[in-house]
Amino acid sequence: MTLQFCSFASGSSGNCYLVKTDETAILIDAGISGKRIFEGLDETGTPREQVAAILVTHEHIDHIKSLPVVTKRIPGLCVYANEATWECINRPVSEERRRYFKTGEDFYIGDLLIRPFPISHDAADPVGFSIYYKDKQVSILTDSGYVSDEIFEEILDADLLVLEANHEKEMLLFGKYPYPLKQRILGDEGHLSNVTAGECLSQIVSERPKKRRVLLGHLSRENNTPEVAMQAVRNTLEENRIYIGGELQIQVALRDCMSELYQV
Ligand SMILES: [Zn+2]
Ligand SMILES: [Zn+2]
Repeated sequence: MTLQFCSFASGSSGNCYLVKTDETAILIDAGISGKRIFEGLDETGTPREQVAAILVTHEHIDHIKSLPVVTKRIPGLCVYANEATWECINRPVSEERRRYFKTGEDFYIGDLLIRPFPISHDAADPVGFSIYYKDKQVSILTDSGYVSDEIFEEILDADLLVLEANHEKEMLLFGKYPYPLKQRILGDEGHLSNVTAGECLSQIVSERPKKRRVLLGHLSRENNTPEVAMQAVRNTLEENRIYIGGELQIQVALRDCMSELYQV
């Protein structure tokens, strides 16, 4: 029995991740088309009736777009979000399929222990998730303007970490986005840059050396590329004498392609 993880899509155009054991499968967010989500389930050999839940990080459309179609097509599935997020979700999900968690309070879905932790983003009550099974931990941190000490503690021990590397700051600053949008993305309630992701990772690796896999996620279509994100993170790590390979595996979770199915 192992913990497995797959990114179906990650980025400003849509997000959906699968976490599963032999017994339980859950999705984190449903911000891509239902078609792509069902293809992802098929390709990872995940029977639909095994999918117990969708956990929602926050109400932005790139995270919730397909809640109605997935809940309709998988009758046993429930959708989990905190109360403030539910109030802002503008996609219909019937009351009997809604579940409410409190940010900061752990709960179980099947054999998975879930911890929603607060992040800093311009949404009602946005969260990251850590998911625990036996001695393994998967953590997802995207859509956060910065990494607070509290967030850092939540992701420090993750065996597999999805870490936002949204933009390359210069591409954003000199790009075509209007000034207020640039300010929003760069602000404390915006998104993590490549360099911030690299700095956060340097600190994690220095403080807690262990075998871990990192997937850089939620890349911007306009202000980043997978190559730029990897290079920026690699450069920042190397400034701190940390090298990718061996105990530290880093890949990019792509916007429009599934990742492999990782054994955590
Ligand atoms: Zn997002
Ligand atoms: Zn967002």
